[in-house]
Amino acid sequence: MENRICMECGTKDTYEFRNMIREYEGDGYHFELPVSLPFCKKCGAPIYDEELEKNIVQIANKKIREQREIITREEILEILETYHVSQKFLSKLLGWGGENYPYKIYLGKLYAQSF
Ligand SMILES: [Zn+2]
Repeated sequence: MENRICMECGTKDTYEFRNMIREYEGDGYHFELPVSLPFCKKCGAPIYDEELEKNIVQIANKKIREQREIITREEILEILETYHVSQKFLSKLLGWGGENYPYKIYLGKLYAQSF
């Protein structure tokens, strides 16, 4: 948290934290992450902080994993168990295509994970 230098104007250790929202969207996840980042008090340029960025990436990756897992585990297992549907029916429902689609391997992995 020391020796933050503004790359724009060269001012040293003159910064303030601003709260902002970062949006993450991708395959199986979508969320907004509130972050607090340093900005130069003199010129207003964002100041890059490696440690802060590393933390944000870690939090974001954790959320991505959680959201992907929630969708797969909760939705798929819930449908299978609650409605007693077959994997074949479910694959059609989800638009996964024909019988040869490797959804069985996919579900097998999920079951293994939940134990
Ligand atoms: Zn500056």
